[in-house]
Amino acid sequence: MLQSRLFTKTRKELPADEASKNAQLLIRAGYVHKEMAGAYSFLPLGLRVLERIKGIVREEMNGIGGQEIIMTALQRKELWERTNRWDDKQVDIWFKSQLKSGGDVGFGWSHEEPITDMMKSFIGSYRDLPVYVYQFQTKLRNELRAKSGLMRGREFVMKDLYSYSANEEEHRAFYEAVTAAYMRVFERIGLGDKTFFTFASGGAFTEFSHEFQTLTDAGEDVIYLHRGKKIAVNKEVLSEKVLDELGLKQSELEEVRAAEVGNIFSFGGKKSEELGLMFRDEKGEQKPAILGSYGIGITRAMGVLAELFADERGIVWPKEVAPYDVHLLLLPSDDEAVEKEASALYERLQNEGIHVLYDERKGVSAGEKFADADLIGIPVRAVISEKSMKAGGIEVKGRTEEKAVVMDAKKLLSLLKK
Ligand code: ATP
Ligand code: MG
Repeated sequence: MLQSRLFTKTRKELPADEASKNAQLLIRAGYVHKEMAGAYSFLPLGLRVLERIKGIVREEMNGIGGQEIIMTALQRKELWERTNRWDDKQVDIWFKSQLKSGGDVGFGWSHEEPITDMMKSFIGSYRDLPVYVYQFQTKLRNELRAKSGLMRGREFVMKDLYSYSANEEEHRAFYEAVTAAYMRVFERIGLGDKTFFTFASGGAFTEFSHEFQTLTDAGEDVIYLHRGKKIAVNKEVLSEKVLDELGLKQSELEEVRAAEVGNIFSFGGKKSEELGLMFRDEKGEQKPAILGSYGIGITRAMGVLAELFADERGIVWPKEVAPYDVHLLLLPSDDEAVEKEASALYERLQNEGIHVLYDERKGVSAGEKFADADLIGIPVRAVISEKSMKAGGIEVKGRTEEKAVVMDAKKLLSLLKK
């Protein structure tokens, strides 16, 4: 990508009316545009990061047998009434509207009800089970406070996966497979060290649901962490009884702030019963399918990344989610050979399948280019200038490194392919 063609611009000044660090950085670097509190548009750079995160999640979901779909955002009142989740007293974040032709609709904040109803068309016998389906979808939630940037949107991208199993054993096995896949996701996007499996309230079979909590001061949750065992307990369920059950001692726990990047939940057979998703088992008996529901906050994870991976100059993307592999900078020069060299390198890197953002902008000083590169936060910066050419190559530097190293194109390529 030629940077001169990128319609977005970086901004030096902090956006007024934006209190959160993640959104400030992402707006200043041109990743997102704030439409209103809790609603952000994704610009070319931001979309690339979003798609990379989704790509990793998609691989892991496919890896455990998930099939991707997209459900509708418009939802029927009648379904949610059957499970007692339509009333604003039960679910306080509904966006609702009326159809011109008459009747109410809800805007999807979650999808257990419509997907369970839909599955009645496809599941009738134990032979049809298990079924694992997932989607990436923009959820709409009328959140009272939306001050945490991407971390709490009124409109945000979630990956939601639903499992339908014939019995508890099958359900539990998949629940564990999802747990492991989620840990791989957080590992791969760079949050592995800071993300902990956390016991929280709700859930059938065990008395818990489970959250994946990433340590950050920008998080809205308080959890009690056992670093050694790498597990945590959400404040909402902390009690002597629960600690005993989990074999934890209060004195060994640290109180820390965290953001919930994922949540997995077992509904048992209840929702299928309420909505009539029954199947015939081997003996010909009618049974409700067992439902598990598993979410990852895709845009929240991106916000958390911007919170955690940044310094005073801007964002520092982990390699796996960065919008480009390398930021190539052509510094101003009167010598045409410099631009030729940089453009040739741009071509060569692209031919090798490397994703390059090439800052070939004219009339922009070296200092501005460096500042923009730091703000945008691509992991590797490669500079071509008169100086680098005299030194015999390209000045290459990791985003957080202080000193650049001069190398030739071949060396740069092997570094980028690692
Ligand atoms: P929270 O407790 O933070 O309000 P939740 O428990 O309501 O979240 P779920 O319904 O379990 O969230 O949604 C699954 C995942 O979607 C969450 O783990 C979180 O990562 C993400 N998520 C939930 N609400 C938001 C939001 N308003 N903005 C961005 N991501 C969200
Ligand atoms: Mg939750």
